Amino acid sequence: MAASLFIVATPIGNLEDLTFRAVRVLGEVAVVACEDTRHTRVLLDHYGISSLLVSYHEHNEAKRTQELLGRLEAGQSVALVSDAGTPLISDPGYRLVSAAVEAGITVVPVPGVSAAVTALSASGLPTDAFCFAGFFPSKQTQRLRLLKQHEGAAATLIFYEAPHRILETLDDIERVLGDRRVVIARELSKIHEEFLRGTPGELRTILAARDVIRGEMTVLIAKAEHPPVNTTPVAEAVGELMGQGMGRMEAIKAVARSRGMSKRDVYRAVEES
Ligand code: SAM
Repeated sequence: MAASLFIVATPIGNLEDLTFRAVRVLGEVAVVACEDTRHTRVLLDHYGISSLLVSYHEHNEAKRTQELLGRLEAGQSVALVSDAGTPLISDPGYRLVSAAVEAGITVVPVPGVSAAVTALSASGLPTDAFCFAGFFPSKQTQRLRLLKQHEGAAATLIFYEAPHRILETLDDIERVLGDRRVVIARELSKIHEEFLRGTPGELRTILAARDVIRGEMTVLIAKAEHPPVNTTPVAEAVGELMGQGMGRMEAIKAVARSRGMSKRDVYRAVEES
């Protein structure tokens, strides 16, 4: 049978959150590529798995990708894991998976935990649509810009954040998005698992009162109750699109669609301007 690259999700805290299938696959492959061999050895030892481990992290991704592709092309199956959760989700692996796809190698996901979806499922925020945006940037200007970009999104927003930056980030959320409902999911699946729910200001007060703010955190923000109203006059919006190279009728159609107006009304507004 041709070799496959398995993308195996591992626990984000509780070692019981590893699937039976993941245990089997991790035991059957020729090699397990992981971020930190000592960290993953603890998990494999827990399950009595003695597979060969090789490191694969952001500093050796390019070199290791070639080595692992070589193994796969020679018929050896490889599993990729990260320190926690689903590989590639704010974790290394994209380079390897895209190279494997390019090389025609079968890539098999072995699903399991990811902090983003785990947090969403118990957050109490709407789950019909969500937007996972990875880690908040560490620089405030970039953080504010990112929040502004997502201001009108019709979806629950999900971010990863480090505990030492959470107070500043809550201030920025309040500054850009106001009194939205926010949920902080902390230490998911661990002994001190906690969900904090409130406005950014309320959560700031709760956390600032603690001696230390620690633990892994996923931050969820409710979508806007009333998406921001587009205040650009209709004719101007059509003009802007035409300025970007769109034909007149095409621009009228696009503006009508985005504003829920009839084409005739947009056309009339353009004619009267
Ligand atoms: N690949 C992982 C996944 O699928 O969730 C995420 C890896 S990313 C490097 C680590 C970040 O995920 C943490 O800084 C935190 O924001 C979030 N995270 C990981 N484990 C968590 C947990 N047990 N509780 C809450 N958030 C967690």
